[in-house]
Amino acid sequence: MTRRSIPYRRTAITSAAHDAAFLAAARALAETGRELAARGWTPATSSNFSARVDARRLAITVSGRDKGRLTEADLMQVDLEGQAIGTPQRPSAETLLHTQVYARFPATGAVLHTHSHNQTVASRLYAREGMIRIEGYELIKALRGHDTHDTAITLPVFPNTQDMHQLVADVDRWLDAGRPLPGYLIDGHGLYAWGLDVAEARRHLDAIEFLLGCELDLRRLRS
Ligand SMILES: [Zn+2]
Repeated sequence: MTRRSIPYRRTAITSAAHDAAFLAAARALAETGRELAARGWTPATSSNFSARVDARRLAITVSGRDKGRLTEADLMQVDLEGQAIGTPQRPSAETLLHTQVYARFPATGAVLHTHSHNQTVASRLYAREGMIRIEGYELIKALRGHDTHDTAITLPVFPNTQDMHQLVADVDRWLDAGRPLPGYLIDGHGLYAWGLDVAEARRHLDAIEFLLGCELDLRRLRS
């Protein structure tokens, strides 16, 4: 019985590959991706984006696509373990970092990862401390759960590696220590931000990018 049911299940998943929920998520990500690329935050096909389609599927960028020219054809589906659904295409090399965010924060609806100049420079500058503490800015209120400027956020800076399991372990260690995680940087690499939907993830990404830019300017002006 179990064996016979497998082809039906596969067919159902494959036919779902271009259903309305996937297309809506793919279009939202493609549009956001093009906007982020226009701001110069996704150089040289870097960066990757994902959004929840339903309880067991994500839409995520196909590996290596030019983010300035994204269409829904550049998005594919994976399950919550990062396995491709209904396509031989390869998802982003950093898919495990996306699926980790959905697993650790189940309300997450979208994850945006970019490689902007500010994010990259800040990650290098603060890599030794392993974190950046940002406080006193009105824009901190743009981050979910922060209702006043009179607060601080700490963004960890994790060492870069091509071993995604290592990065997943670093993020797990931070969270398992009970520390808040409004987003994170990877040294010499870029930023991960997320939210309840694409719009909120975008707002968080914009806010953190702005805050990092301010901190970098202050370091320059004070030196
Ligand atoms: Zn990356």
